[in-house]
Amino acid sequence: MPRRRGVAPPPPVTGGALLDWTASRHFALEARPCRHCGAPTHLRDENRRPADKVCAESALAEVLAVVSTYGGQGRL
Ligand SMILES: [Zn+2]
Repeated sequence: MPRRRGVAPPPPVTGGALLDWTASRHFALEARPCRHCGAPTHLRDENRRPADKVCAESALAEVLAVVSTYGGQGRL
């Protein structure tokens, strides 16, 4: 499979250690349905949308996998 020169593949993604949501802006008093799984959550993503951290990390991992796959094929 051909690879583009000068484009390093992204590091492997592992769950649970991708996002730092320790800042208070990632917490809300009101529980709302997670945008990914629908379960109630007090957590908010960078855009203040309700999201579990593990769900956001899984969604991000999927995007990175697509970027890695298509980037490795020189299709990005
Ligand atoms: Zn969720």
